Amino acid sequence: MWHLGEVPLFAVVTATIVTIVHMQDFCQKADFECQSQDLSASAQQPLSQSVNSRWNASVLNLIQNLDHFRVSNEKLMGAFPIDEMQGNSVRTVKNCIFSESIPTPLKGPLRLVAVSKDVIEGLLDLDMATTQSETFLQYVSGGRRLPESQPLTHRYGGHQFGYWAGQLGDGRAHLLGQYTNRKGDTWELQLKGSGKTPYSRSGDGRAVVRSSLREFLGSEAMHFLGVPTSRAACLVVSEEPVLRDQFYDGNVKTERGAVVLRLAKSWFRIGSLEILSQSKELDLLRWFVDFRKLLNFVIEEHFPSIQTNDPDKYLAFYSRVVNDTAHLIAQWMSVGFAHGVCNTDNFSLLSITIDYGPFGFMESYNPSFVPNTSDDEGRYSVGEQASVGLFNLEKLLDALRPILTAGQQRAAETVLKGYVDIYETRIHHLFKAKLGLLGDDVEDDYIIAFLLKMMEDTQADFTMVFRELSEFSAFQLHNHNFTQAWALEDLSSHGLFPDWLSVYLQRLHRQVHDNDVRQARMKGVNPRYVLRNWMAQSAIKKAERNDFSEVELLHRILSSPFAIQSSAEAAGYAARPPKWAQTLKISCSSGSMAVELLPLINRT
Ligand code: AMP
Ligand code: MG
Repeated sequence: MWHLGEVPLFAVVTATIVTIVHMQDFCQKADFECQSQDLSASAQQPLSQSVNSRWNASVLNLIQNLDHFRVSNEKLMGAFPIDEMQGNSVRTVKNCIFSESIPTPLKGPLRLVAVSKDVIEGLLDLDMATTQSETFLQYVSGGRRLPESQPLTHRYGGHQFGYWAGQLGDGRAHLLGQYTNRKGDTWELQLKGSGKTPYSRSGDGRAVVRSSLREFLGSEAMHFLGVPTSRAACLVVSEEPVLRDQFYDGNVKTERGAVVLRLAKSWFRIGSLEILSQSKELDLLRWFVDFRKLLNFVIEEHFPSIQTNDPDKYLAFYSRVVNDTAHLIAQWMSVGFAHGVCNTDNFSLLSITIDYGPFGFMESYNPSFVPNTSDDEGRYSVGEQASVGLFNLEKLLDALRPILTAGQQRAAETVLKGYVDIYETRIHHLFKAKLGLLGDDVEDDYIIAFLLKMMEDTQADFTMVFRELSEFSAFQLHNHNFTQAWALEDLSSHGLFPDWLSVYLQRLHRQVHDNDVRQARMKGVNPRYVLRNWMAQSAIKKAERNDFSEVELLHRILSSPFAIQSSAEAAGYAARPPKWAQTLKISCSSGSMAVELLPLINRT
């Protein structure tokens, strides 16, 4: 058995309420056929050339005229109380779920620097050619309102770094409206960085180029890794000066404002419910009505398997969120993703990854990896995410308690106790798949934990160890020839590596005639490319000089993270990270809200 205490990654244990999610779900994008295919040739077209031809667009029935593209907040405005006050003056907002708020246009000249064809065509039904128009640029930078769109900002609160922080809300984001696409899926379109709102507190409502690029690339990369996430449609860069003290060291610099158009099926968060329940002492009846409205809406729109007349529907909802959050965090861990700011306001009720800030993909394996340099105590280290998820689910239960019966509360507590088991079971499956292990074997836990321990001791690269294990046949592994495999070379410096390898190979050997299939399977779940901070940083540096070529390259490569691509190899994206990467720091300052990190507000 592995020793849980020694392997913080698995600091949590077997499932009860779990719906077992198979590897296909984890790796919805994996294409086993094309693992060694070089995608670079077709992918190297510049943006303008990759625009669909008219013929393609009409065959696909894509919208070619932006005048025909409609989004609407009518449904949300009909369902929920709206702030009686209008305008963007910063205030404490009461008795509502949304405030009407108009984006503040970014100062030009504006430049569309990144577009996700997958989102534009696949989710928004838009012909890529429409993105080249001035009108599009205006729509997606807050300069012009989409026809009939009444932008909204959402009132939410949250527990930040363990403490109740009061009203937060969309301080720099505007919900343009919902769009129901030809597949019948409804997406909520949000601009981020689009100016002050009633929820801006001391912030300027802006986002800068570096953080917006990271959100654009990060969320799209996560999608193609198969992890549930918000999406990013495009990114506009402006010449608007935005002041930022990147490392909170008094060194204020002028950066440029940028806006991302991002999408989610819903942007409601745990903090959306928390702000309502926190106000119950103020207005008992009001709170109760609004809380139920929000909850019923979320259940009806996003949890169709829960019957609206089920007396236990809130309990059923809670079980789903517990289950899906455990699954989400297990998926984060399986790709070495650290969110960086796991506050309850950044935890989606739909259990998708949202609000990309100082996130990071772990390089050398280290459960204490903290992507956010401002997180001094390592509260949101990669290895702590599962327990932070538990904390956030406790806060969700606290918010739900007043509408649950005593029996339902006890049942919900039992559900929450099952979280650890759900997480552990999921992670067990994911890591078994990463190692290509089929069926069940008493040694599996041991093989996984032993490997992780060696990785920790040798600081071997998390992503590449698994990838290189996928790329080697059992015969090659047996021969220990790792000169072409830098991560395995590092790992093999461990004194116990030969012992581990022998146990692993014996285990693989028991999966008769599985070698090629095993490799293909493993290559489909172990990415060769993740958005390492140094890669993002290199693209950001160029972008700051108005060279967006590396952004485009990264976007393209990370859209097929499981396939070997010559352009990625040439860029060194699967090679040992450069020396300067080790000193790289990512702070939380993209939003200028240093206060986020000071858990001093409203301690309760
Ligand atoms: P985030 O860290 O981006 O999840 O943001 C936490 C809270 O701070 C949210 O309420 C944001 O809307 C708000 N916020 C962050 N940056 C800014 C900014 N530049 N202007 C206004 N509000 C901001
Ligand atoms: Mg946030």
